[in-house]
Amino acid sequence: MKIAFLDRDGTINRDYPDENWKNRIEPEILQGAIEGLKGLMNLGFKIIIITNQHIINDNIISLADYQIFTNNLKSRLNEYEIGELDIFYCPHSETEKCNCRKPNEGMIKSAILKYPEIELDKSILIGDSKCDEDLSKRAGIKFYGINGHYFSDNYASIEEVYKEINEQMEEL
Ligand SMILES: [Mg+2]
Ligand SMILES: [Zn+2]
Repeated sequence: MKIAFLDRDGTINRDYPDENWKNRIEPEILQGAIEGLKGLMNLGFKIIIITNQHIINDNIISLADYQIFTNNLKSRLNEYEIGELDIFYCPHSETEKCNCRKPNEGMIKSAILKYPEIELDKSILIGDSKCDEDLSKRAGIKFYGINGHYFSDNYASIEEVYKEINEQMEEL
């Protein structure tokens, strides 16, 4: 089973400065995200979201806030017949030194434990932060960077990533 591991904030939906996450319950889906996710699913990728949410244990949002936002995101994606296989999140503060906060591999390891049929060598990781890229290197997963606060000359959206992978597959 090949997985598209996706960062959430700044990759699928808009990201904000930490303090501005208070009282956010509706995701603002980024341009090209829906088309890209649909395309990746059509290419046979299952979708797993892996997201650092240190703002939970840093007490900027509650766990309930996280869950409300997540359910709204799922609903929005489901409207377009996008079904994610799973969502893994790390609630820990940086100071807690957990194993799941990206770029640590904990969330990938949890995914493999839960879904042993995952083939990492056929999987991809898409994200907009250095921690996503660093995780991909540690885990040995092909990485695609979404332009934003960290990358500026990579891919404009998930749709652009999908198009490139689709072209590569057609050439085979
Ligand atoms: Mg991000
Ligand atoms: Zn963690």
